[in-house]
Amino acid sequence: MAVSAGPWPTLPVVPDPRAEAVLSSGLIEELSYALGGPFHFLLPDTFDTNLRALREALAEAGVDGVVYFAKKANKAAVWIERSAEGGAGVDIASVGELRETLGHGVRGEDIVVTGPAKDPALLRLAVRHGALIAVDALDELDALITTVRTGRVRRARLLLRCLPPAQPHSRFGMNDTELATALDRCVRAGDAVRMEGFSFHLSGYAIQPRADLAGQLVDLCLKARALGLDADRVSIGGGLAVSYTDAESWCAFLDVQNSGHYHADRTFDTADFYPYHSPHAGAGALRTLLATRPEGYGQSLAGLLRDSGVTLLMEPGRALLDRAGATVFRIQGVKDRAGYQLLTVDGTSLSLSEQWFNSEYLPDPYLLPMNPEASAGVWPAAVGAATCLESDMLTWRKIPFTRRPRAGDLLVYPNTAGYQMDSNESAFHDLALPPKVVIDRTDRDRPRWRLDRHFT
Ligand SMILES: *Cc1c(COP(=O)(O)O)cnc(C)c1O
Repeated sequence: MAVSAGPWPTLPVVPDPRAEAVLSSGLIEELSYALGGPFHFLLPDTFDTNLRALREALAEAGVDGVVYFAKKANKAAVWIERSAEGGAGVDIASVGELRETLGHGVRGEDIVVTGPAKDPALLRLAVRHGALIAVDALDELDALITTVRTGRVRRARLLLRCLPPAQPHSRFGMNDTELATALDRCVRAGDAVRMEGFSFHLSGYAIQPRADLAGQLVDLCLKARALGLDADRVSIGGGLAVSYTDAESWCAFLDVQNSGHYHADRTFDTADFYPYHSPHAGAGALRTLLATRPEGYGQSLAGLLRDSGVTLLMEPGRALLDRAGATVFRIQGVKDRAGYQLLTVDGTSLSLSEQWFNSEYLPDPYLLPMNPEASAGVWPAAVGAATCLESDMLTWRKIPFTRRPRAGDLLVYPNTAGYQMDSNESAFHDLALPPKVVIDRTDRDRPRWRLDRHFT
């Protein structure tokens, strides 16, 4: 039954000509037919554009910088290939990720290894391949130095990861005392290590704390140089925000939404939602960061970096994948409930990972109707998975569709490449993992497609 248009919260994504060209090409319907289940599509041209924008922001500020793609944000091989071609490195944290990254064309010296308490096999391989290793703890530093002394390798390249004073409960990094000890051990290790600088990764998306800590680490580089170490890099980790929607839509959404707008009267703590709009996002966030004056300093971060000859390293995951992919499900069943419908699609919410963080992926999915007679009006509907779990919902929110959803129609969740696609996917219920389809050259009349190298 149609419900008269109420104040249904919506969250439209920012316009994206590349994704829209794919959606209107007829390709999605063909792929859905061919693959016979849910799938992800990837837009590598958009990844290239995002990478170029970051490099331009560095160039404009006159700052020497290196971008490393944080691989954990998406498992597809195509991002590694594009990183290699676009002059980016890759941030990895396991032997599997290292193997994938080398195998898809990124040289060892362009890899940064992060993550805590790295296993000995990872340390050994990373050293052998000349990768840069972000050391997370003193015992790891000792293990690394031992790896060099006992292996057939000349030396290890390393950064020292700092426990952010603003996030003292983080389980990553070393405090001031530990850093001082680490510097001392690096000096004593002599030629076994090249101590290249410091790193951090902050939760959240605020700019000022990143500028502040980066400024302090530039200073620490100068102190380390006085000890005879190289110390010419600072890594600011990831955390460049992505804006999925415009400011007005995001504010309106937060204002309007209440439990009546969700299936089973579910409530979400709005503080658990990803900030779907940020005033500074992607390359814009980097530009702002470089122009920000770290607290206690008389000049911008860019100026500090230039004056001290420090190279800025960054490890963006989500920001490089902004708009670089989407996820397609087919509606298998439609059930009427009081005032709304419950759609069941042919996959699970494991392919839309936000559900697993006490939260919900909010950007409005597109409905691609396969039924020409679909009735217009406002048709609120929540979206459930093809599993036997009450809580396995792709969208608890009653999305106000403007045509009546029917079995066979397709639902396209936009902008899912950053973290939504594969970090939680599993073959639950023996449902196949959705394949990843790479769509090349979306500027042509007919987009061309191929499968990514692997389906995990
Ligand atoms: C997760 C992670 C990143 C990537 O973070 P984004 O928010 O996706 O940019 C970068 N560096 C480290 C150390 C990380 O753990």
